[in-house]
This record gives sequence, structure tokens and C-alpha cells, in this order.
Amino acid sequence: MGTDYDLCINGGGPIGATLACLLARKGLRILLLERSPLSTTPARNPDGRAYALAEGIRPLLEDAGIWQALPLPPQPITTIHVTDSQGRIPAASRSTIADGLSFTGDDAPEDRPFGWMVEAHNLLAAIARTLTNQPGLDVRAPATGRFTFSRDEARITLDTGETVTASLVIAADGRQSLLRQQAGIGLTRIPYNKIALVSVLAHEKPHHGSALENFLPQGPFARLPLPGTETHPHRSAIVWTDRPGRIAHFTSLDAASFTRLVEDRLCGEDLGTITLAGRHWTYPLASQYAHRYHATRLLLAGDAAHGLHPVAGQGMNLGFRDVRTLNDILGDAHARGQDLGAPALLQHYQRLSRPGNLAMLAGCDLMERLFSTNMPLIRHARHAGLMAMKRLPSLRHGFVQKAMGL
Ligand SMILES: Cc1cc2nc3c(=O)[nH]c(=O)nc-3n(C[C@H](O)[C@H](O)[C@H](O)COP(=O)(O)OP(=O)(O)OC[C@H]3O[C@@H](n4cnc5c(N)ncnc54)[C@H](O)[C@@H]3O)c2cc1C
Repeated sequence: MGTDYDLCINGGGPIGATLACLLARKGLRILLLERSPLSTTPARNPDGRAYALAEGIRPLLEDAGIWQALPLPPQPITTIHVTDSQGRIPAASRSTIADGLSFTGDDAPEDRPFGWMVEAHNLLAAIARTLTNQPGLDVRAPATGRFTFSRDEARITLDTGETVTASLVIAADGRQSLLRQQAGIGLTRIPYNKIALVSVLAHEKPHHGSALENFLPQGPFARLPLPGTETHPHRSAIVWTDRPGRIAHFTSLDAASFTRLVEDRLCGEDLGTITLAGRHWTYPLASQYAHRYHATRLLLAGDAAHGLHPVAGQGMNLGFRDVRTLNDILGDAHARGQDLGAPALLQHYQRLSRPGNLAMLAGCDLMERLFSTNMPLIRHARHAGLMAMKRLPSLRHGFVQKAMGL
């Protein structure tokens, strides 16, 4: 086709940037627009997020060149403890790790880690480093565009006034996607009236790569191992979900009172003295899903298409599955000289990705609801479920494969 670019990707977050790097390596002419400036050094004020990336996603980031550019090596997750508080108040009657379910190296194929912890500011710096060194990729940042779509092409007018054309546009512009709204694609949002409180802890003793997910009736509490730094050799991130009023109370506490409450939720893990290594961050929680993934010469990917409850740390992992699918089908179509914006191709992407994404979204939603109730019947059922997983290797095996994204 006679367009200036094969593809325009709107949004240079983890999903848009990874896809851009992968497809540029296959020879596609790509324009990437990112509204924020790119920084090749980790930002001084990160957004507090740390991502648990499934082991199965690592090769995708390696192929894109992003994994190798991470300023701090990612932390492997080698053990996962899951506990169900069974409605007990933590300080009064603590659940311990031994009461719950633990996944260790024996459960992982070929002794591989279950996943990797990467902090958002390090991932964004790695993305910026890779984007700026990628031949064939036209990166504009900070920049936005105005889009018009017709049967034959997508037309993009940049802030500079320049107008260019592309065969296909990918909206990778996050949860509030303007392109999704402009295309009139409907969205269902499921609010939880809960907030995720995110902080980084420094502790005296090493975590040995272990992660903890403690299900409490008010919401899950997760401790996730982070790589050490010179200042703090032993660090963990916490993602603590609770009602807005209670989160407001926790964040108003002095550091010593806050860390005491954290210790109550660690199910007996011995990390020595714990201190706060930074400020708190809060995120109101909601799931959401787009009713379609395509419109004329437009596709949605990542959070623009689906947003998950972070209970299982699967939001970005799901976005990377979109990237894998798009890398395959757009790479193949380009190699065959096909029109990347052909309606059949866009529908094919939706057929391949949306059902699995919806199933994962429903699974995370169900997990949030099942573990947030104190109804005796459900409490007993989920306890039985955890115990079955503890005793049945085949059940554990299937679960581990799925969680690792293999
Ligand atoms: C507390 C918390 C913890 C989480 N933990 C995990 C986890 O452990 N594991 C996991 O897999 N996921 C996790 N997630 C989910 C994860 O953060 C998202 O799924 C992921 O960031 C989505 O990536 P994205 O690139 O699609 O969107 P985003 O990260 O939102 O990036 C969108 C990009 O588009 C740009 N943009 C927006 N609008 C425009 C525009 N008009 N023009 C140009 N550019 C634009 C933005 O600047 C941004 O760079 C967590 C989320 C939260 C809130």
C-alpha cells in the first residue's frame, strides 16, 4: 500500500513499545507516538509499581531487546507461599506459611523461576534505551496525534502539524484509551470499592526469592521480592488491598506503626527488622473490558483492551500475550505482502486473543470475590481447594504451567 508507515502504535508503554521493537526487527515501517518524554535513566519519582512478570514472557522481552537493557537485573521468584486467613484477624491469630500452600523449585519445570520482579521505573528506562537504538522505528516522544480512519488508510496529524498515513493503528494507550473512545468501542467497568496500597520495604534478612500472597477478608496482601540495591540490599514490594477508609488510615500511620501492621500480615516470615524504603502509592481498583478489539484500521492491545484486578499480577502479562499474537499475525501478513488493516486480519486477532483474555479477567474477578468473603460455606470450599492443590501434584502442575505463562 502507498502509506508512509505500515503501522502506527499510539502509546509507548510496556505493551506498545515491546510490540514496536519486535515488529521493527521484522522490517515493518513503524511510527510510535508516546505522550510522555522517554528517559533512559530510571525516573527519580517512579509510580511505585513493581511487576511480577511470568517466566513465559521473558523470551518476548529478550527478543525485543528490552530485557538486556534493564538497569537493575530482575529478581527471580523461586518460591510462592499462598495463605488463606480464613477470616482471622492477623494480629490476634496469625495464619502461618505452613498452614497454606507453597510452590517451590520442585513444582517448576527445569528448575526455572516462576517469574521475575521488575520495577516500573527500571522497565520504562529499559524501554527508552531500546526504542532509541532501534533501526526502522520512528519514535516521537513527547508527542500525540489526531487520527482519522477510512477504508484505505489511517491518517495521523502530529502536534507539529505534519500529516502521515499508516495501514493500521494500534491503540496501546492504556486504560483511558482515547482511540478506543474515539472509535466508539464500548467498555464494561467493574469497580471493587477497594484500593491497592503499594510500598517498598527494606528488611534486615534476605527474602531468598520468595513471594507471599496472604488472602484476608478485606482483600489480598502480597509481599513480592525485589532485587537489592546498594542502599537497601534486601527489599520487597507490598501490594495491600483494602477498603478506601482503612487504606486512608494505614497511610496516615507513622512508619513504626505501619510496619507493625505489615509484620502482622507476613504469616510468620522472618525478614528481621523492617523499615519503609520510600513513600506509599495508592491505586483504586477496577476491572474493565472493551466490547470489541477492532474498528476500521484500528486494533486495541494491552490495558486499552482489558484491565485486570491485580490479585494475581496478570494485567501486563495478558498484554504481553496480545503482543505475542500481534507479533505473529502482523509479522506473517507483512512477510506475505498483505494489507495489515484488512478487516479479516483484525477479526482474526480478536478471535485469537479476546476469549482467553476474558477468561483470565473473570478468573481474577472470581478470586477477588471468593477470598473476600467470610461466608462459612465459601470459606470451607476455598480451604478445600487449597488443600486439594497442596496434595494433588497434577493439579499443581497445571496451575503452575498457567501461572508461568508457558
Ligand atoms: C498496583 C498495580 C500493580 C500491578 N502489578 C502488576 C503485576 O505484578 N503484573 C502484571 O502483569 N501487571 C500488573 N499491573 C498491571 C499493569 O500495570 C498494566 O497492565 C500495564 O501497565 C499495561 O501496560 P500498557 O502498555 O497496556 O498501558 P500503560 O502502562 O498504561 O501505558 C500506556 C502508555 O500510553 C501513553 N499514552 C496514553 N495516552 C496517550 C496518547 N493519547 N497519545 C500518546 N501516548 C499516550 C502513556 O503515556 C503510557 O506510556 C499492575 C497494576 C497496578 C495498578
